[in-house]
Amino acid sequence: MSCSNYDWNAYALGEMTGAARGEAEAHAASCAACREELAGTRLMLDALSTLREEEPPRRIAFVSDKVFEPRWWEIFRTPSFAGALLIAMAILVHAFARPAVDQKEIQTVVARAVADVQANYQKQLLADYEEYQKQERLNYMKNARLVRQ
Ligand SMILES: [Zn+2]
Repeated sequence: MSCSNYDWNAYALGEMTGAARGEAEAHAASCAACREELAGTRLMLDALSTLREEEPPRRIAFVSDKVFEPRWWEIFRTPSFAGALLIAMAILVHAFARPAVDQKEIQTVVARAVADVQANYQKQLLADYEEYQKQERLNYMKNARLVRQ
């Protein structure tokens, strides 16, 4: 019998009947390849026997299931919604609580600034004119002396 006729998985699991089992053992004693295959099968079964038995889940849930969707009121508990609500409330409070702008005060400040600029401008203009007159007088005196000489 060739090697392919022996089911070493069935042998290792104890599923072979007496006569077939004896024949397989006789073959394995004389065939290194089959002994190796049987040893590998036994090693795999030993490894499997160390695994813990677990109950398969009765139902598999998907992320898209309704169970995972938040209820409408649960949106208020999310951090992003709470943050947005806080900012909106801060804007509203600021809009109603800030002091009203006094138009008269603004007009007073602007008028004072304009008056300051005009006064400075007139002062500078006067100073420039006086300087100009002084220079003119000096030039006149110089010219007068030159004419006399
Ligand atoms: Zn063999």
